[in-house]
Amino acid sequence: MTTITSKSVELIHLSLDNVSVAYSNARVVHDVSLTLGQGQIGCLLGPSGCGKSTILRAIAGFEPVVQGEIKMDEQLLSSNGFTRAPEGRQVGMVFQDLALFPHINIADNIAFGLRGWNEAEKVERVSELLELIGLSGLEKRFPHSLSGGQQQRVALARAMAPRPKLLLLDEPFSGLDASMREVLVPEVREILLKEQISALLVTHDQMEAFAMADKVSVVNQGRILQTDTPYQMYHEPVDRFVADFIGEGDFLSGIVIDDKQVKTALGVLSTDGSHSFATDQAIDVFIRPDDLLHDDNSDITAEIISKQFRGSHFLYRVVLPSKQALFCFASSHHNHALGEHIGVKLDLDHLVMFAQGNS
Ligand code: ADP
Repeated sequence: MTTITSKSVELIHLSLDNVSVAYSNARVVHDVSLTLGQGQIGCLLGPSGCGKSTILRAIAGFEPVVQGEIKMDEQLLSSNGFTRAPEGRQVGMVFQDLALFPHINIADNIAFGLRGWNEAEKVERVSELLELIGLSGLEKRFPHSLSGGQQQRVALARAMAPRPKLLLLDEPFSGLDASMREVLVPEVREILLKEQISALLVTHDQMEAFAMADKVSVVNQGRILQTDTPYQMYHEPVDRFVADFIGEGDFLSGIVIDDKQVKTALGVLSTDGSHSFATDQAIDVFIRPDDLLHDDNSDITAEIISKQFRGSHFLYRVVLPSKQALFCFASSHHNHALGEHIGVKLDLDHLVMFAQGNS
């Protein structure tokens, strides 16, 4: 199978520049800036109520902006006092609530948005999309006879049918169980890449964001805190909230010795010298579970206070003599009991540090 990767993106397709959105004069989205290239898949990731859907609704034209500009291919869609109508934006939407029409068959559901197309064009487009979503032959079936994942693919095909310039996906997988999501999310990514359609996904689920998007924007309290590739976001969070929200990890307190070293309960750690903290400043070093290794030869021991078996490895929660609790991955051959003390050591590629007391 050929793996399709998103083509390199130079052209800015969608841009949001300092956008703010308010409900009844209360701003819930503040100074949001982001860009999406042609064929690129972006994601707004954040906790419930942080403003993700509101940003999506502003892009779709359902909410006006009170500040900033939204443009597509350099054409203005929204600014303070100007909102191009949703139907004039060539933007498709897929929601968690699929809203397939139960009384019409799959082919007619997909063809629903093809107003102005002649019959032959409709038939051709529907058949092309059915093949793309792997449901050829099921065109005469009704939605209730399909699985949740199949229905979601039909909803996607229906939104893509008129060839919108941009597809907005608002929590489209949250109604599905975990195993179905695991299969469907990469499938949807492949479908979007094959159609070369730009898309923006909204989700609170980090795994979904990572499996789907070329770049992820973490949103909190109406602001984008960081936009990066999933890899960068995981390994180099620039904000304490981002570090905490993405994956598992702990903040290990330390003191800056100089521009090259910090002192922690796990020993003196080397930095790359690029930090701007002052000598003797109290900081936190961010530690992922895979940064802390179980090592029988280590001088530092920690007590196991909880453990989760994850097949290939254990995720232990251990407490250092300094009373600091940390996550620690260990190979599943290392099956230790709660209360046992095991040797641990850090294996850090680079230090991610935050000033103490900063949110
Ligand atoms: P998310 O998609 O991240 O869950 P939303 O964009 O739906 O967040 O909501 C952001 C904030 O705006 C929340 O505090 C929510 O209560 C509020 N909000 C959403 N829709 C409306 C509305 N129609 N009127 C007033 N407040 C709203």
